[in-house]
This record gives sequence, structure tokens and C-alpha cells, in this order.
Amino acid sequence: MYQSILFILLYLVTTFFVIPKVTVFFGRERITNSKNITPTNFMTELLNRNYVKPELNIILQELAHKLPEGVELKYLDANFPFFNGFPLLPHLSHNDGKKLDLSFIYEDKNGIVSNLKKSNSGYGIFEYKGGNNQNDICKQNGYYQYDFPKYLTFGRINPDLVFSEKYNKILIESLLESNKIEKIFIEPHLKARLHLTDSRVRFQGCRSVRHDDHIHVQIK
Ligand SMILES: [Zn+2]
Repeated sequence: MYQSILFILLYLVTTFFVIPKVTVFFGRERITNSKNITPTNFMTELLNRNYVKPELNIILQELAHKLPEGVELKYLDANFPFFNGFPLLPHLSHNDGKKLDLSFIYEDKNGIVSNLKKSNSGYGIFEYKGGNNQNDICKQNGYYQYDFPKYLTFGRINPDLVFSEKYNKILIESLLESNKIEKIFIEPHLKARLHLTDSRVRFQGCRSVRHDDHIHVQIK
């Protein structure tokens, strides 16, 4: 018992006080939280999955200012603090400080923007309403892992929330104002639904997992 408490204390001190100081040498830093920028799930910080390159942190801060009053930016998995090439499972590409997942923005049943989310983890609740069904296409081609995030919700919450076409479009177009953004991955049916035309908004391929439960952002 005593040893367990000691271990937890040591882990917390390392996570919140030691690692943030050391990562400077690896060119990464913790995502700076503010009134408008917080993780969707507190475990992201507790498990050190919240590290990015400083440029990405700056883009996030700018983005938060561009969003309409009352809309909060909620982030999901970023990268681990150290070493390029060490993936943040299950995201194989989140290994260099340049990748970040963002939560969608939702509205309540009255159409009022909400900062709540639809699953405890922030992943696994898909927004398919029609159009190009990439999930079926990928699975028919043998990529059975494509909708694997459905097992990663850690519980569904707030079932009345509705995907906000208006605010997710604003979010993505605000991100695209930065020329440091290299790619944004969302499912093709969402790109069509939001009328996004920028070529940096792409389909990530069947080897990955479906991206109609969150937005993947990567910088150059
Ligand atoms: Zn991602």
C-alpha cells in the first residue's frame, strides 16, 4: 500500500514537474492550457500524451482566439514527450511532435453550441450521415481495423449532442489560415458535408482508422 502511494506520487511529480522541463531538449512542450484550450479527457495529460512542437502550440493558441465567443478548443491525443519515431499507440503517426487530434464541436438539441463531448475518451462516436461510405469501402478491401475506435469510447455520454456543421467548418477553416498546416484528416463524407475545398484536407487512407469521430492535424 505504502509503496503504491509512493509510486503514484513519484509518477505525478515526474509527469507534471520533471518531464516538462526535460522535453525542451527534445523540441517539444506541453500543450498550453487556457480558459479556451483544455484536453477532452484528463488522462491525456496524466499519460503524457499532450506534447507538441512549439510551432503547433502557437497555432493552437491562435486558433482559440479565432473561434467564436464561448467555443472552447478541446484536444485529444498529441505526442509523447520524447524521441522521434516512438509512436503514441494506437496512433502510429503521432511520433514526432507534429501531430494532434482535436475533438469535434457539437450543438445541443436546440442548436446552441456546446463544449461537451459524446464519449469519455473523445474517440469512437462516428458522424456518418450519408455520402461516401469509406468505412464500408475499407472493410470490403480487408482493412478490418478501420472502425476500431468504436471500442475506445470508454463510455458514451451526452447522446443528444449533434455534430455542428457550422462550428466544425469554422474550426477547420481557421486552422487552414496557417501555412504551417500540412494536412488535416477527416473522412471524405465530412469534407463534402462541410464544403471544404482546400487540398490539405485529405483522406488518410484505409490503413489508418476512420476520421469521422475527430480531426487529425499535422504541421510541416
Ligand atoms: Zn491523429
